[in-house]
Amino acid sequence: MQEAAASNIYISRRGDRRPDDPLISLIVPAYNEAEVIGHFLEATRPVLEATGHAYEYVFVDDGSRDDTANILSSEFKNGLPGRLLGLSRNFGKEAALSAGLEAARGDIAIIIDADLQDPPELILQMLDGWRAGYDVVYGLRVDRSSDTVMKRSTAGMFYRLFNRLANIDMPANAGDFRLIDRVVIDALLQLPERNRFMKGLFAWVGFPAMALPYERPPRKAGTGKFNYWKLWNFALDGLTGFTTLPLRVWFYGGALVSLGAFAYALYLTLRVFAHGIDVPGYASLMVALLFFSGVQLLSIGMIGEYIARLFNEAKQRPVFIVQDVIEGAPTSRPTRLADEKNDAE
Ligand code: UDP
Ligand code: MG
Repeated sequence: MQEAAASNIYISRRGDRRPDDPLISLIVPAYNEAEVIGHFLEATRPVLEATGHAYEYVFVDDGSRDDTANILSSEFKNGLPGRLLGLSRNFGKEAALSAGLEAARGDIAIIIDADLQDPPELILQMLDGWRAGYDVVYGLRVDRSSDTVMKRSTAGMFYRLFNRLANIDMPANAGDFRLIDRVVIDALLQLPERNRFMKGLFAWVGFPAMALPYERPPRKAGTGKFNYWKLWNFALDGLTGFTTLPLRVWFYGGALVSLGAFAYALYLTLRVFAHGIDVPGYASLMVALLFFSGVQLLSIGMIGEYIARLFNEAKQRPVFIVQDVIEGAPTSRPTRLADEKNDAE
């Protein structure tokens, strides 16, 4: 099904029909979440049981330095269905999500934060959306009052800028909390890029999508992992990954400035003929000099942002390194997928 280095992506939909009894993979990136993991399991298990389907947890320990890995590995050793991937260091949430998607075996994946800011009850509604035929059901944060004013307004600015500049439509205030069908997982896994701005990639792959509005509660326990410097770079990753406009705009800016400079040069020359040479002009020279050196540095800096990312892509380093995998029970109960595996043996 997955041809190596295919230039186009063809996803087969397993005989056009979705399974009636899908296996659900819950993908959870976790970085120093020891304080909240217990609450998380308590809150999610009843919901997963209530779906009536088999499920597995796919935890990705993103290089936690607290007890996260210990707590999770003993849970899996005690029969929690699914597996724990331990990354060799902190690779960031986007990389952790990619790892989780790769390790998920489900017909459906649900991506959810470990801190219970993504209400688990919504999983049931997401499944309804999936049954109604949507391949993507994403959570839409209608109430972000748990975020600071600063975070909300900068996030709002980012979404507006992104949607104006990028060639894809990314729903504002959609997070990573979402259900995706196997077809979407397979499509995502075939994207070769190293810069994995997941929100953008989710939008880029397309497929019928449904929004599910919800209020985002504050963190259950533990602390947030993103500061403004990280978020700023995250925003740059997103923009540079999905639009080349910041690069191309300098062509038009430059053309405009050259045109102005040409007209001004003409005017100056004619003025010399008419009125002779006059020396004053320090202020105008200085202002023009400072202005244009500023513009040049800015444009070079912009090019630098892209070159740095090209450089990272060119190195072709893997997105993450898995240090160990701890397997729990295969799934919460025997499934069609397990039967198929037994048949193959
Ligand atoms: N996370 C991660 N790696 C990181 C940072 C965060 O896997 O480097 C996980 C974190 O454990 C949590 C989720 O990503 O499950 C969201 O993190 P956080 O709650 O700090 O972000 P916010 O809610 O502020 O977007
Ligand atoms: Mg959070």
